This record gives sequence, C-alpha cells and structure tokens, in this order.
Amino acid sequence: MPNSSIKSVCVYCGSRMGKGKEYENLAHDLGERIADAGMNLVYGAGSIGLMGVVARAARDAGADVIGIIPEHLDAVEITQDGLAELHVTRNMHERKKMMFDRSDAFIVLPGGLGTLDETFEIMTWAQLSLHKKPIILLNHKGYWSPLLELVENVVREGFASEANASLLQVAETAEEAMDLLKQSEAQTEPSNSELM
Ligand code: AMP
Repeated sequence: MPNSSIKSVCVYCGSRMGKGKEYENLAHDLGERIADAGMNLVYGAGSIGLMGVVARAARDAGADVIGIIPEHLDAVEITQDGLAELHVTRNMHERKKMMFDRSDAFIVLPGGLGTLDETFEIMTWAQLSLHKKPIILLNHKGYWSPLLELVENVVREGFASEANASLLQVAETAEEAMDLLKQSEAQTEPSNSELM
C-alpha cells in the first residue's frame, strides 16, 4: 500500500523513445516503482515511445493503468492493450482535463513538445491556484536543465515569482521522484476544475 494518500499518478512523457536506451530504462524503472508503491498510473494511452514503456512496465508489475486518448490520436498513437481503463475523448482539451481530474500528482519524464505543453499547462493551473497537486520534474542526467534555466530566467527578469517556480519539484532519478511523491499528501480540497 502507498505510504502517502496519493493513489493515482499521471506521467507525462515522450511519444518517442529519444536517443539512447537510458530513457527507456528510466521509463521502465518509473513504471515498476509506481506499481510497487501500490499506485495507479494515468497517462495518454499510447503504446509508442516512453509512454508505452512506462505503461507496460506499470501494468506488468500489477498497477491499474488508466489511458486517456482523444479519438483523432487513437490510431496514430496506437492504443496500448491491457489497460485497466481506456477513455476516448472528443479532443485534446478533454483529454488533458480528464488526465488532470483522474490524478493526484504528476511526474514529467523526458519528452517532446506535447510533454512541454502538458507540463506548463499543469504548472500554470497551479500558479492560478486552481489546484495544489504535486508536480515532479524528472531531470534525468540534466535533460530538463534548459527548462529549469528558462524558468529561473523568467523569475530573475520579474515575470514570475520564486513561489511560482517552486511549483515544480525536481528529482534526478525515478527513486527520488517516488520518494518526493510518497512524502506528498493528496489534496483534499477540490480543484477549481470548472475554471480550467
Ligand atoms: P510528445 O512529448 O510531443 O512526444 O507528446 C507526448 C504526448 O503529448 C502525446 O500523448 C501527445 O499526444 C501529446 N501532445 C502532443 N502534442 C500536444 C499538444 N500540442 N498539446 C498537448 N499535448 C500534446
């Protein structure tokens, strides 16, 4: 059973594998750890790239995996089999909203533009006090360091507060990310979901 009250974790990550086996290993490690912690995985339902790796690792290690995909991507992202739940939404907005609603926390693995979009969206919702769910950036071997530098620059130049920047917690390994998650408590106050 999980130590914290967090039951469902959403993972944002690439629909590609990236260069080098290490990204695949990282995604696999995280998927297994989510299952070992007794948590559910919420993700974008694809079988390709790191998305597929994390989902299969979590599923095979016994987690319930909840996939949420918009109908226009159903074929492109090749829906993963063996999901505990599969939801097909009408569009990307519904998908991202449902992924948010079904999750108590977010972990960001290496990924591309879609991953960036999802990460900044969830951060800006937190910045606007629409939710208080933890957001953990897995900065594997400095992959996300340019993003962290960008956010630091935004703060330095006066376009966001330190508090805004600290909405993003940073881990360097899957183990560290899970430790941060286990120390977090699920928020009991409802999110201002209708404002998203
Ligand atoms: P990527 O990081 O670009 O490989 O995409 C990872 C996930 O984000 C995939 O499930 C994509 O469907 C999704 N995605 C791609 N583009 C966007 C976008 N513009 N807005 C939100 N999500 C996206």
